[in-house]
Amino acid sequence: MSPEIIRDLGHRNSINQWYYYQTFTVISSMNTSVENKSRKAVALVSGGLDSMLAVKVIQDQGIHVEGINFFTGFCVEGHTHAIRKKDRARPKRNNALWTAEQLGIKLHIIDVSEPYKDVVINPKHGYGANLNPCLDCKGFMVQRAYAWMQEHDFDFLITGEVMGQRPMSQRKDTMPVVSRESGAGDLLLRPLCAKLLPETKPEREGWVNRDELLDFSGRNRKPQMALAASYGIEDYAQPAGGCCFLTDASYSSKLADLWQARGEKTYEIDDIVMLKVGRHLRPRDNFKIIIAREEGETNFLKGYRKRFLSLGTTSHTGPIALIDGEPSETDLELAARLVARFSSGRDADSVTVEVLQKDGTSSTLDVQPLPSNEVPQDWYV
Ligand code: SF4
Repeated sequence: MSPEIIRDLGHRNSINQWYYYQTFTVISSMNTSVENKSRKAVALVSGGLDSMLAVKVIQDQGIHVEGINFFTGFCVEGHTHAIRKKDRARPKRNNALWTAEQLGIKLHIIDVSEPYKDVVINPKHGYGANLNPCLDCKGFMVQRAYAWMQEHDFDFLITGEVMGQRPMSQRKDTMPVVSRESGAGDLLLRPLCAKLLPETKPEREGWVNRDELLDFSGRNRKPQMALAASYGIEDYAQPAGGCCFLTDASYSSKLADLWQARGEKTYEIDDIVMLKVGRHLRPRDNFKIIIAREEGETNFLKGYRKRFLSLGTTSHTGPIALIDGEPSETDLELAARLVARFSSGRDADSVTVEVLQKDGTSSTLDVQPLPSNEVPQDWYV
């Protein structure tokens, strides 16, 4: 069974939190019809604005909502912002937890990184513009949430999907595919575009009022922003392009390179985290070099020196680099020249580079930094 972290925001010690929770409960119960007193919905909470609004719309109808957030390993937020110095000003928060806190709901964070591998590696509906298997991914998440819903005696599922917003999983013809293949069927309600879709069971049974649901469509975010403003929501995450790294062209090409170098489509969490960090160059088929771009990444890569052979300049300030693969002596010298090129000694005649083996033994190489015109663009993964 996957580990599950439950944050019950209604049971925090903070008086303010308690007051907020109590206030929320009272307001909710004033709106609650007798019919809905026992109805409970589980929401897929990504941490973005759409899922936040979907929860709000359903809460407004007096339904008890709890959230689920799936950890796949590819989530955009947090990790790189925490590592990179230039991102230090960004809030280092888990947006799903933060959203749950704003909404006053319980959030269940579920680690699905193992079973999710099959979605990334063998998507039956294929990939989008990059290695994003959005249709399979959405089906997988809804299917998991549906199983959770049944296990925990909830009545229906909600998502923040908006018709036409995403080219693969949020189209008029693919949204029913997700409902069908996940097994959730008409227990899956998309409050933000429900009026554009056939009636679901929660609407038919009167658990929710269809008239109060929405008809958002397309990529224009203005309706969501207006709805957010009407709720007084001013602060929310604004993911660019998608909710995970798989929609990113540069990240996807690194993942494709990893699979090609291995001769098979496999990965571990460490691999996919590493693809988010540093410059990746593959000068030869038998090895790749990962060079930190700044101090935060250097510190991060240092943590991997027992798993990878590493290089670092000693005569000049410069980045740490890790070698993935089996380099020959000549390859190592080339790698050292590359590292020297990204150090403060790039214009020096000679730079000393320390080569640290995984077992901690070290040696040094004195090399001439590689001039930029000898670093072909196709080395960059
Ligand atoms: S962007 Fe990523 S998390 Fe979102 S549906 Fe696509 S594959 Fe899944």
